[in-house]
Amino acid sequence: MGRPDYIICLECESEVDQFSWREGEVRKAVCDVCGNNDPDAFSLPEDFEEDPETQVEEDDIEDEYEDYGADEDEEEEE
Ligand SMILES: [Zn+2]
Repeated sequence: MGRPDYIICLECESEVDQFSWREGEVRKAVCDVCGNNDPDAFSLPEDFEEDPETQVEEDDIEDEYEDYGADEDEEEEE
């Protein structure tokens, strides 16, 4: 497993590219946004994207937009 281009700060969910990578894990990292410098408090981008809760939230948002658009069309016809 190679070094990722960036890692995700779990405190503020920012992308961080200032980190030390060794033997498949984060050794040192500092988040410029919130100052987090605990290597355990960072996640790899691929692990972060696979979070099932995040995908469920995206589906809910799409459904709400579809319902809103349908309501607008009905008002214009009347
Ligand atoms: Zn942060």
